[in-house]
Amino acid sequence: MAIQGQCPKCGHRVLHVNVEQVVGVVDGESKARILSYSCIHCNAVLGAQIDPRSRPRPKRKAEGTGGAQPPQNAT
Ligand SMILES: [Zn+2]
Repeated sequence: MAIQGQCPKCGHRVLHVNVEQVVGVVDGESKARILSYSCIHCNAVLGAQIDPRSRPRPKRKAEGTGGAQPPQNAT
């Protein structure tokens, strides 16, 4: 395996990234927590994704034990 990710801006190997928590905005509304990854050398953003650890803001108490994830009925 010779994967050598390079920053498209500064050309450095991407061995580390700065991880930043940002807010995903849809139609002007804050919708989700996002993690963005940026080059530690030049701070160019290399990518972003929804924070897999985040949960939607709880609007009501979850049933049963606290912190349980809502059931996912989607296929
Ligand atoms: Zn860079």
